[in-house]
Amino acid sequence: MTSPPVRLPVVVAAPAHSGIVTPLTYRSELPLAPGALVRVPLGRREVLGVVWDGEPADAGVEERPIAGVLDGIAPLPAAWRRLVAFSAAYYQRSPGEVALAALPPQLRDLSPEQWQRRLARKPAGAATAAAGPAPVLTDEQAAALAQLRSQPGPFLLYGATGSGKTEVYLQAVAEALAGDPAAQALVMVPEINLTPQLQERFVARFGADAVVALHSGMTHPQRLKAWLAAHAGRARIVLGTRMAVFASLPQLRLVVVDEEHDPSYKQQEGARYSARDLALWRGREERAKVLLGSATPSLESWLASERGRYLRLAMPSRVGAGRLPKVRLLDLNLQPKKTVVAPQLLAAIEARIARGEQALLFLNRRGYAPVLACTACEWKSECPHCSAYRVFHKIDRTLRCHHCGFTERVPRACPQCGNLDIAPLGRGTERLEEHLAELLHATRRPDGQPVRIARIDADSTRGKGELDARLAQVHAGEVDVLVGTQMVTKGHDFRRITLVAALNADTALFSSDFRAPERLFSLLMQAAGRAGRDASVADASEMWVQTFHPDHPLFAALKRHDYPRFAAQQLEDREAAGMPPYAYQALLRADARTQEVAQEFLRLAGVAAQDLPEAPQVTVYPPVPLAVQRVADVERAQMVAESASRPALQRFLAAWQPLLQDSRPKGLIRWAIDVDPLAI
Ligand code: ADP
Ligand code: ZN
Ligand code: ZN
Repeated sequence: MTSPPVRLPVVVAAPAHSGIVTPLTYRSELPLAPGALVRVPLGRREVLGVVWDGEPADAGVEERPIAGVLDGIAPLPAAWRRLVAFSAAYYQRSPGEVALAALPPQLRDLSPEQWQRRLARKPAGAATAAAGPAPVLTDEQAAALAQLRSQPGPFLLYGATGSGKTEVYLQAVAEALAGDPAAQALVMVPEINLTPQLQERFVARFGADAVVALHSGMTHPQRLKAWLAAHAGRARIVLGTRMAVFASLPQLRLVVVDEEHDPSYKQQEGARYSARDLALWRGREERAKVLLGSATPSLESWLASERGRYLRLAMPSRVGAGRLPKVRLLDLNLQPKKTVVAPQLLAAIEARIARGEQALLFLNRRGYAPVLACTACEWKSECPHCSAYRVFHKIDRTLRCHHCGFTERVPRACPQCGNLDIAPLGRGTERLEEHLAELLHATRRPDGQPVRIARIDADSTRGKGELDARLAQVHAGEVDVLVGTQMVTKGHDFRRITLVAALNADTALFSSDFRAPERLFSLLMQAAGRAGRDASVADASEMWVQTFHPDHPLFAALKRHDYPRFAAQQLEDREAAGMPPYAYQALLRADARTQEVAQEFLRLAGVAAQDLPEAPQVTVYPPVPLAVQRVADVERAQMVAESASRPALQRFLAAWQPLLQDSRPKGLIRWAIDVDPLAI
């Protein structure tokens, strides 16, 4: 005798505005626990779903049966489901969309039979995280760890570059895992590919079995394997990028967010979550300690530590005798027009090379030149699909749009007037590398050999293993001058670099984005942090900044390495202007065939918002086009909603969202809400 089928709520990957309301309801012969992974029919397809919490909704039609159960995998824990549900509500998406995006892609593709193959393999026991040898802590490190041990947190580890923050993370993880064979730790970094050293340090300390990585650079099978190891509790430490905040970790005890200020913690499509903010939420829910670390914290976190909501742990000194570099501002107003590398800076670089030291020059623009222009007429290398110029890449003589990817060979003659003389305007890293080779042509290294220049940017490291190989060359001392984009300024523990130069930092000073100064300051501090990390190489390292605005207060604070001063100034401005972190924002973005339609959709949304009960507490600003207004033939506009109260803004958005679904003017392609946006 069989019992009647049970009805189950199941979430599937349906975006909030698809019209599919999740959870959907399915029938099952057997009861299944919430969190169980199932395959269900959806339209004509069969998709992965997760059995959800709560009562199944009544769809008014006969419910279809579940097609299969991935019963080799334990149901996703309740804490994980709560995290997904919270994220979906907070970022205005559906739980199904968030849940399925958080699972490894291969899980979605395999049939239950394929599973039974896979899972038949030996289930290994939990890895032991045997702590390898650790250095004797500095006093500052020891003090930070003592606080971490005795206080609940959350913590903001405010430590200078080279102060040994990573060592604090390692020991905090060791302590979190000690004594409990099931305990797990999550360590997040902005971009794991840029810091292969970090993974090595964790593996060296805890053993290869205990540590798994989770990031988008892995293959699907690798990601599935790592995800399963964490879910089953075998992996003790997950080291990952923002996506790792959704890892299933049944016994999470500690979350570390390294470089917590880094914008890459914010997802820029789908559910636009902040992995840092979710880490704090998750830590509180699961009673795991949360440790944020940075030399230049986000103003949000800094303010929270000023107010005592986070406990600040300060490590102002560099490990050993390493000293922070002396900052030198080079006034470009006193240089000939079009100066790329001022003579003083060049002389300083040559002096470093002569002593066998390394120099790092960075420029935030890849390619050869940002624009190609006709010398006879008005023609410039505009992208036909975007409101932007295509960048000239000399290496393969192409014009490439960095927004839509549209690429063409460089024309032989001006397409407009036939003039043969088309010239590059401005300078990217590729051209800088070429220029430096000319400037340093006659310079010699201590061994009498010519200078070796290397470039690291998205173009030069596209191939598999290229980035690692290039970084290894720098570490091995096979490079004298390293040229790159901001990729090279992040996290690396370069031992022989004693001079860092920012060639053109000014563009960010007068940006319309109110966060631009904060970003520039942290970028320059991080860059400075690459110099002089090893006192045995040189006792005086330098950071050069070429600028037309040497008197700007941002540079005054940089000269003193005075982040607190800079933060105080910025916070004062933000408070006066009623901007984050003193206010909360959300963006409504619209993509359409024409700018008029995009703005009309937003305008109507603004009108609809006036009737919402929360409207008096929320300011909705007029629609504006995005800075790059058209990308891939799509016109883009946005509108800011702002409130001094986070809960009020949340209630407002929840009530607004259904109204937006009802108004879709012809020509509208899509719309999206971005909560706590980073770029306005
Ligand atoms: P940060 O992450 O703060 O920039 P790191 O953790 O990379 O700094 O530390 C900088 C350097 O100092 C690294 O080479 C690291 O191995 C070393 N280091 C850190 N702590 C100690 C210590 N207590 N004793 C000796 N060396 C240390
Ligand atoms: Zn022309
Ligand atoms: Zn384009």
